Amino acid sequence: MRLIFSNSSTTTSPGHPAVFIDRDGVINLRRAGDYVLHWEQFVFMPGIRDALRDIAGLGVPLIVISNQSAVGRGLLSRPMLEVITRNMHQKLKNHGVSILAVYYCTHKPQDECICRKPNPELLLKAAEDFSVDMSKSVFIGDSDADVRAAAAAGCQPVLFGPGLTACSPSSEWKSGIPVARTARQLPNLVARLLKKIPSPADRQALQKS
Ligand SMILES: [Zn+2]
Repeated sequence: MRLIFSNSSTTTSPGHPAVFIDRDGVINLRRAGDYVLHWEQFVFMPGIRDALRDIAGLGVPLIVISNQSAVGRGLLSRPMLEVITRNMHQKLKNHGVSILAVYYCTHKPQDECICRKPNPELLLKAAEDFSVDMSKSVFIGDSDADVRAAAAAGCQPVLFGPGLTACSPSSEWKSGIPVARTARQLPNLVARLLKKIPSPADRQALQKS
């Protein structure tokens, strides 16, 4: 399921980077053991709207990539998911954040579809739709499925959140992945990974050369 918000102010040119963003646990709080089934249950993560506004200010399009198996499980209708998504888009827009598009896998895990993360299909589809250069792009997520999808699609994973979730008990998947514990840390980290601003190490290297 795909929603494109054509009123996005970000213009896209071929070969540009994008910032991909997971939804539950990154944009909105996860509901313990449950799904977001109504707009009333959609609660923005602390500080995330400011962080996304700053990231949007870098001039890159923002694209949401999310698994919503509640649809496949028959708990959430597609029209209701669309209502939740349009509300999210509008609230973010009111805050100065234009989301370009939202891609959902609505299957349940047992369907063994090709689009459910950790499969990279939705990232690759979005890259094709908007001529995104994956090698310049970043995917902000909170789980090993997000990290694996980013790696398979060829873009840079970033982990966000105070309580990172894992499908596997091992935390090996997190090693070497840049982490922003708070929303406040996110824009600088993303900017650095997009190579918009040099990291302290890069600056040192520049001074030495
Ligand atoms: Zn799917």
